[in-house]
Amino acid sequence: MNTSNASTHQSQISINDSRNVAINISGLNKSYGDYQVLKNIDLQVKEGERIVLCGPSGSGKSTLIRCINQLEVAQGGHIFVHDTDLALSSKAADNVRREIGMVFQHFNLFPHMSVLDNCTLAPMSVKGVSRKEAEELARHYLKKVGIESQANKYPIQLSGGQQQRVAIARALCMKPKIMLFDEPTSALDPEMVAEVLDVLVKLADTGMTMLCVTHEMGFARQVAERVLFLDGGQIIEDCPPETFFNSPKSDRAKNFLAQIL
Ligand code: ADP
Ligand code: MG
Repeated sequence: MNTSNASTHQSQISINDSRNVAINISGLNKSYGDYQVLKNIDLQVKEGERIVLCGPSGSGKSTLIRCINQLEVAQGGHIFVHDTDLALSSKAADNVRREIGMVFQHFNLFPHMSVLDNCTLAPMSVKGVSRKEAEELARHYLKKVGIESQANKYPIQLSGGQQQRVAIARALCMKPKIMLFDEPTSALDPEMVAEVLDVLVKLADTGMTMLCVTHEMGFARQVAERVLFLDGGQIIEDCPPETFFNSPKSDRAKNFLAQIL
């Protein structure tokens, strides 16, 4: 019988960590109709922290990160991003959303726009950056993800791995302080997973605050400071990767690891 409880879970490593808090979630509840997906989630993410979020399908991983980015509205609890309470005003929430980049499983590039235009759209339309500056920024980040030579192509002309790298560059063009990834490699053919993970590893090295839903456990071991294991809408493990892989507390995490490793 598992006795862990989302409302009382504590990170084993946030103690003695003096970094500022980037995301502070308390008592977060989210339901779809009668079905409660997230149950009283408490979570603190420090600036520059790299967190891998894993758990069975349907456990609420996407819902949790979508709530952070306000793509979903929670029914209860609070989410503070850099000390701004997202529930307070929609203006504050809009400002905060600009600081958060998100990358989805299915890339979600605009199909009718070139790679370059995908990257310049938001900086120009949301932040009022000039086209010249936006293009410089776009080329800078496209180079960082190793895809500058594809700038004038359309998404359909690129491989899945290339499209996902464009999606990462596009998010970085908004100069986010936090990056959220929702299974960024799950839709990729196996040979393309590494090229995207390489980009994520490099991004982690820059000190970016990252919350990544993934089942790439090699990546979690290499990059994550903490692994969160979500099951049934509750965080039931929150520990460094070595603890998660070597001695998970709950039977549910043990079963999960037995299935995917
Ligand atoms: P995960 O990402 O861990 O697979 P999700 O957060 O996508 O899980 O979903 C958690 C649960 O919420 C699932 O049972 C899913 O069917 C349900 N759910 C997700 N989105 C919606 C929605 N828009 N409407 C109704 N139910 C949803
Ligand atoms: Mg999901």
